Amino acid sequence: MNKKKRYNQMVKCILRPEVTHCLECQKKLQRCVTIADRMIITLKQVIRVVHCGYRCPQEQCPGRNVLYRSAEADALALAGFTFGLDVVLEVGHLRLREHKTVDEIHQYLSKHLAAFEQTISRREILFLFEAYTALLRAGTEVIHDEAWKEQVRKNKGIVLSIDGIQPDNGNETIYLMRDVLTGRMLHADNVTESTKERLKEILAPVVALNVPVLGVISDAQPTELQAIAELWPDVPHQICQFHALREAGRLIYNADHRVKTDMRIRMQQKTHEYRQNLHQRLREAEEKKEEQEQEIKQLQILEEYAAMVEGALNIDGLKPFGYAGLEMQKALTHIQTSLEKLEKKGKQ
Ligand SMILES: [Zn+2]
Repeated sequence: MNKKKRYNQMVKCILRPEVTHCLECQKKLQRCVTIADRMIITLKQVIRVVHCGYRCPQEQCPGRNVLYRSAEADALALAGFTFGLDVVLEVGHLRLREHKTVDEIHQYLSKHLAAFEQTISRREILFLFEAYTALLRAGTEVIHDEAWKEQVRKNKGIVLSIDGIQPDNGNETIYLMRDVLTGRMLHADNVTESTKERLKEILAPVVALNVPVLGVISDAQPTELQAIAELWPDVPHQICQFHALREAGRLIYNADHRVKTDMRIRMQQKTHEYRQNLHQRLREAEEKKEEQEQEIKQLQILEEYAAMVEGALNIDGLKPFGYAGLEMQKALTHIQTSLEKLEKKGKQ
C-alpha cells in the first residue's frame, strides 16, 4: 500500500525563470501560471517547490506563446517524481559505479533520509534506477520525438541549460543538458574529467539535434564557458544566478565546513560517552523505580538535552548558503540558553 508521506521539516522555495525578458521583444516577462506546486525530497531536505511560469505581456509579440520555465526548478526533480534528481543520480552512481546491491543502497539512503524523517522503499529505489538509465537514453529519445520538435519550432529554438552535478562520493560529474523552454532533458552523461574537449564531446548530441540555440545557461566553470563559446560563438550566454551564487559561496562554505568538522570532532566523542553513561544510570534507576523517581526524571531531562546536542553536531550544510557551522552554533547556543534558564529555576 502507498503510505502518504509526511513532511514535518520542509523549506518552501519559489522558483522563477532565469530568463527575465522576452527573447523576441525584450519586454519584461510576467507571471502567468503556476507550472507546479509540489514536494520534492532531495538528499538534503524536503522542499516545497512552487514553479512559476512567465510569458511576454505584449499581445502582438511573436514570442507571446513561449512559456518560460525555471531551469533550477526543472533541475530539482524529474517530472512526476517525488524524489529529487540528486537522489536519482545517487542511486545510479551507487549501483553502476560502486556496484552496491539494492539492499545496500536502501540502507544507505534510508539512513540519509531519516535525518529529516523521510523513508524510501526498495521498490522506489528500483524505480529511481530505471529513471537513471532512462536519463542516459534521453538523447536518443528526444531526436525521434516529433511533438517536441514541433514545440521547438514554435519556440524558434531551444535555450540550453547545462548543469554539472557531483554525487556525494566519487570523482565523477554527471552533466545534464536540458531545454529551458520546454523543460525537456536533451542528454545526460558521466565524466571523470571536465576538460574543454570532453565537454564538447558530451555536448555533441545537442549539436546533432540541429535546432537553433537561442541562449545558454550554465555555471561559471571555465572549461564549460570555453566549450560553449567554441560550439555556439554567437549565442548569448548567461551564467545561472544560482550557479554563480554557488560558486561565490564556495569559499565561505568551505571555511564553515572546517569549523563544523572541528566542532564535531571536539564534542562528538564526549557527548556520545556522556549519553552512554546516562543510559546506564537510567537503566539502574529504573530497576529501583519507586525510591528513585526524582532521579529518573532528572536523567531523562539530561538525556533529552544530550540528544539535542548530538543532533546539533550532525547538522549538514547545503550549498550555497546553508552553513552547517553557523547552524550548529545557533542550535548549541539555543540549548545553552535553555539550560541556563533551567538552572535559574532550580535555584529559586
Ligand atoms: Zn515579447
